Amino acid sequence: MPQFDKIKIPADGKRIAWKGDALEIPDYPIIPVIEGDGIGPDIMRAARRVLDAAVKKIYGGLKKIAWMDIYAGDSAAARYAGNVLPDETVAAIQYYHVSLKGPLTTPVGGGFRSLNVSLRQMMDLYACVRPVNYFAGVPSPVRAPQKMDVVIFRENTEDVYAGIEWAEGSPEAVKVIQFLKDTFGTSIRIDSGIGIKPISITGTKRLVRMAIQYAIKHDRPSVTIVHKGNIMKFTEGAFRDWGYEVAREEFADQTITEDELWSKHDSKIPSGKIVIKDRIADSMLQQILTRTDEYDVIATPNLNGDYLSDACAAQVGGLGLAPGANIGDKVALFEATHGTAPKYANQDKVNPSSVLLSGVMMFEHLGWQEAADAVVAAVGKTIRQKKVTYDLARLMGDIDPLKTSEYATAIIANIT
Ligand code: NAP
Repeated sequence: MPQFDKIKIPADGKRIAWKGDALEIPDYPIIPVIEGDGIGPDIMRAARRVLDAAVKKIYGGLKKIAWMDIYAGDSAAARYAGNVLPDETVAAIQYYHVSLKGPLTTPVGGGFRSLNVSLRQMMDLYACVRPVNYFAGVPSPVRAPQKMDVVIFRENTEDVYAGIEWAEGSPEAVKVIQFLKDTFGTSIRIDSGIGIKPISITGTKRLVRMAIQYAIKHDRPSVTIVHKGNIMKFTEGAFRDWGYEVAREEFADQTITEDELWSKHDSKIPSGKIVIKDRIADSMLQQILTRTDEYDVIATPNLNGDYLSDACAAQVGGLGLAPGANIGDKVALFEATHGTAPKYANQDKVNPSSVLLSGVMMFEHLGWQEAADAVVAAVGKTIRQKKVTYDLARLMGDIDPLKTSEYATAIIANIT
């Protein structure tokens, strides 16, 4: 067990542990929580109130989250002599296995690109999981937003977002350009910046495996591999091929390909089977608009997933309602998908739904499905009552917005 300096372990909680292949969830699980910078304290306070109220309502006193504050970003700098990502924060996330996190400021000109990316990479949280579905009453730019119901599994550790790049004119960029020219005869303009896009069998297969396992567990009819393999054959194209390989080699009894669906099953999905299909990324971005309900679980390399996650979220009313999680083999970190919106910090104004619904995903991960369902139903009812924060109020028209804390209170009142 790690020794902590500033982190206080809640006396009434117990650690979530792994027992074989399954998480062992105590009734009072210790959940480390990073409040976050900017609007983080406002939204996390509201989310914790709602999550606690749901657990109390659903389980009486039998279950309870034992929140354990841990620190990153501004809250860490104040306590750890300027260190924005203390070792004990990382140790706590690893040791306790399931954590919740608010948004963190990306330090400008620091030694790393982003605290969020650092956390994912340090703990090998290789899948960024983003469910996107619609709450009735939320203003949407499309005619049938209710058709959107996807869960995106976006690879988190590879592709261009692995961050291997060199600035134009840097000795490294010049050296790489020269090396490629001397060794392979390539001609890259000398005034180019260079980025490396690695996609591996290991990174691809574990991501697609997680997506297929999710589809099986949640009775989803299809998994779509989204790639740009027509242009990038040995990275994106390989992602598609290795994705199909996982399905064929590890899930032969549970999956069929789209080709087989047409050629052998007269386009009717046989019971108990999941269809594995693939789409080229540009086509997928139009398909998700025009044939929204044909897509369920999506597995994609990092950059496609980045575009697709936000495009899907936009169809159902934007990022304010979009939850997310970063998941590895042992550790899961649930987090708001938006940033710190610093201009709204400490105004009790913004929408806490993203981090709240990330908490719902966390409940599902713990197997607390009844509490998860209760929060989703209460959020839906609150929005239908037009009790919303400023962001949705301004889109809905003539509505007085609620404060963050008032919105949380309204949701709590709707938990049944
Ligand atoms: P942002 O913080 O997401 O804010 C952009 C705009 O989105 C806000 O001005 C606001 O729009 C709207 N918004 C964001 N969160 C909202 C909420 N909870 N409720 C209602 N509206 C919300 O993006 P940013 O300004 O580009 O980034 C600020 C900082 O956050 C940066 O340091 C960035 O690196 C960091 N960031 C962190 C994460 C993360 O921790 N995962 C993710 C993204 C960005 P209006 O102005 O129109 O009201």
